[in-house]
Amino acid sequence: MGGHHLGVADGVRVADLLFPGVGVEIEEMIVGEGEVRLAVRSVAASAACPGCEHRSSRLHCYYKRRLADRPVAGRRVRLELRARRLACGNDRCGQGTFAEQIPDLTSRNVRRTTALTAQLTDIALFLGGRA
Ligand SMILES: [Zn+2]
Repeated sequence: MGGHHLGVADGVRVADLLFPGVGVEIEEMIVGEGEVRLAVRSVAASAACPGCEHRSSRLHCYYKRRLADRPVAGRRVRLELRARRLACGNDRCGQGTFAEQIPDLTSRNVRRTTALTAQLTDIALFLGGRA
């Protein structure tokens, strides 16, 4: 497909720049003919356990979450989050592990996620679409 490829090595932190409140950075961005693929990951140092609200930075594992797969501006956009599952460090909490939430991306508020996806796509096209 010959899409232009931008990786972390390029030092792209545009998501961070433009969405300081979201706390994600673009990890991988592939702009093809009719498709844009974006992989983002969280840059937060820790997350609050839903069971006890203690903050934890103990990584349990990474897993992929597909956040969007929809057409934006005539291109198919796939947005993927490399999400973290963390282990709660509180001995008195029965939670065990929990999935990190990124409010603007993982909320059930589809309109917010859609708006963010559209903005991320604009950035991807701006940075990668010139090739
Ligand atoms: Zn806990």
